[in-house]
Amino acid sequence: MTSADNRRDVRAGHRNGGGTVKGLIRKVYSPHPSLNDSLEGDIQAFLIDEDQLHTYDDLTKVNPVTPTTVLKCLQARYSVNVFYTHAGCTLVALNPFQPIPDLYSLDVMKEYHCASQPQQEFKPHIFIVAEEAYRNVQGQLEPVNQSLVVSGESGAGKTWTSRCLMKYYATVAAASSVLKSQDTVERIERRVLDSNPIMEAFGNACTLRNNNSSRFGKYIQLQLDRYQLLVGASVQTYLLEKTRVACQPANERNFHIFYQMMKGATDEQRREWKMPHGQRFVWLPNSEKTVEEDSFHETLDAMVCLAINAERQRQLFRILAGILQLGNVNFSSSNDDSQPCNLDEQSQDFLQRAAELLCVPADELHMCLKVRMLKAGKQSVLKPCSQAECSMRRDCLAKVIYAQLFEWLVTFINNSICADKSIWCNFIGVLDVYGFERFQINNLEQLCINYANEKLQQHFVAHYLRAQQEEYVSEGLRWSFVKYQDNQSCLDLLEGSPVSVFSLLNEESRLNRASDAKTLRVRLEKELHDNANISWDKFSKEPHFTVAHYAGKVNYQIQGMVEKNKDPVPPEVVNLLQKSDNSLLHQIFSDKETESQTSKGLSKVTVVSKFKNSLESLMRILHTTTPHYTRCIKPNPDCKPLTFKKEEVIMQLEACGIVETIHISAAGFPIRIPFKGFMHRYGLIAKYSNFKSGRHCVADSDNLLRQDVEKLLNLVLQHEAFDPLHNRDSEKHNSWVHCGRTKVFLTQSMLDLLEDQRKKI
Ligand code: ATP
Ligand code: MG
Repeated sequence: MTSADNRRDVRAGHRNGGGTVKGLIRKVYSPHPSLNDSLEGDIQAFLIDEDQLHTYDDLTKVNPVTPTTVLKCLQARYSVNVFYTHAGCTLVALNPFQPIPDLYSLDVMKEYHCASQPQQEFKPHIFIVAEEAYRNVQGQLEPVNQSLVVSGESGAGKTWTSRCLMKYYATVAAASSVLKSQDTVERIERRVLDSNPIMEAFGNACTLRNNNSSRFGKYIQLQLDRYQLLVGASVQTYLLEKTRVACQPANERNFHIFYQMMKGATDEQRREWKMPHGQRFVWLPNSEKTVEEDSFHETLDAMVCLAINAERQRQLFRILAGILQLGNVNFSSSNDDSQPCNLDEQSQDFLQRAAELLCVPADELHMCLKVRMLKAGKQSVLKPCSQAECSMRRDCLAKVIYAQLFEWLVTFINNSICADKSIWCNFIGVLDVYGFERFQINNLEQLCINYANEKLQQHFVAHYLRAQQEEYVSEGLRWSFVKYQDNQSCLDLLEGSPVSVFSLLNEESRLNRASDAKTLRVRLEKELHDNANISWDKFSKEPHFTVAHYAGKVNYQIQGMVEKNKDPVPPEVVNLLQKSDNSLLHQIFSDKETESQTSKGLSKVTVVSKFKNSLESLMRILHTTTPHYTRCIKPNPDCKPLTFKKEEVIMQLEACGIVETIHISAAGFPIRIPFKGFMHRYGLIAKYSNFKSGRHCVADSDNLLRQDVEKLLNLVLQHEAFDPLHNRDSEKHNSWVHCGRTKVFLTQSMLDLLEDQRKKI
């Protein structure tokens, strides 16, 4: 689609209910497009004109708003290459899975940004959300920080969308500053954007669901000065999937950076990293797939831009190469339990190489992997590890190094892009967070991810309710959503006090005993049986529990959960790494001395506690900002261009809360009809029925119309209330309908009633 098409579509969108940038910013609801008197009888046809579905810019205007109508509308739009649709205060973004020319071009950015005349019309776009947030920052009374929450399942387009948002701000907020030289301004924007390729190289991987899947959550705050210029940024990351370093799911890959090194290394680097051509690494499966490897130079350029100097880069890549060598070290079991496991000749070589690259003594590395130190009072006893324990310690070493390296990188990036507090005054936060997950087997990772989604959903529902309520207020309705139940009971189950899934999991993790899935299962049932959001299949062989999340039920496997939550790092491993002559490795572990995972013993801060804390601080920030939600949808599981699979989409609409908003909307008045359209459709009831009344010609002003509408509604309701056949409760009827300033708000029951009457004419 060209830019011109884009604009044409923009106008078409407006004719059918689209708003201006400003209009949308203020959330203007324009007249319903589909009131069509020629469509007799069929209520569905009256409410939605199927031929025109693709022109609906806002799903909340599809009448009635049901999962089916919403789905049809999205499908119709997708089929004509329209990928963005509003859903009230949310933007739904469908992934086209192919580049769409000019959809994000500089010209389009300018168009959205420079919409000075409020009349200029635009179709829904991620840039509308971006611009809305940008304008909101400079609040009328006082500046308000903004958050753009981008969610969706793996491959739906969150990271793509976040990049678009960042590029938008790096462009529109980059006008030359009077305070700085053009040079500085350009540099900071470049740096902020360059943090992306680095973080993606280290934190993304090719999975079955997405060739460039982010294996961590990210909240980036774009810092603006008082002139609204981008002067810096800061990044916060969440829950890196570090297990991938040492264990890649079938047909998936390790983090991109390793493949980039393998493919992009010069001969000299290969020698230094001990990576000769043709060398196979166990931890680099599916190397033959070509995905992101060509980006090595992009990663290196970004590192230079962010001022990671040559020596630091050298140290960093040596550490990564050391990790790869570790993966090729295999232990063979010794026949005698009192003797340590052996290494075959090849493994000895790899261990030697790993030690050299990590700059630690090879014999100490070997000892640290194969012997455990047990403390008995003041005495220490050395105990040989079993083959499985040795492999676990090797994996643990790799994981802890990678995780700390990632953390160091994020801190470095922050130091490089974060502006001084005296310079920036507001921020726009972009949250690229993993969506709700429900796999065949779900464990601690999914529990944490789904917990985060519950938290965000609660935040979203509160915001959505507020927006709905605002519309009621602006239309003069006194009705309120006081009775709406949110997902608090699920959150109580997961994190509440005094007892919750997390508290029990933490207690089990802190007890210094071999973890036992059955014990935890029994405790969960005993202590949490009162909560309706948890259940158990009594006949299941494996210990598990099922949580009823807002987006559906998820079955969690308990086996391994406690161990994952403890995430223990043997003290010998930390001690060894602290001795490294690689100053980067030495630094990242000496910095961690005060943290839990030190020579003092097992981790005290469990994974869920750490995650819960970081999420709580995120929520605290979100609560101080004005949120904008973008829900990315993956239209098919195979990442095929322009293919729309209804079942896939409806599941995601459920998981991202769109269906929930439909329910909220249904709890209020999901059908809103402007007075004029209402009288066109139902004016006849008054004219022909035996309770004839009212004006026969339709008045034009909202006030007169309102009187007509009220009269008509009263008549219909009175008639119903005294109808001996129906004997309906008139009190109830009053809660079925409200007249606003410009439109009637109806429940589905009221609409049915009106349609009944209309049919009788
Ligand atoms: P994950 O949770 O696995 O990180 P994600 O939601 O971040 O997934 P992305 O990596 O952003 O997903 O998108 C997956 C792929 O979809 C992209 O690599 C790109 O090929 C394609 N894609 C996403 N959005 C768009 C778009 N607006 N236009 C064209 N292609 C897109
Ligand atoms: Mg992503």
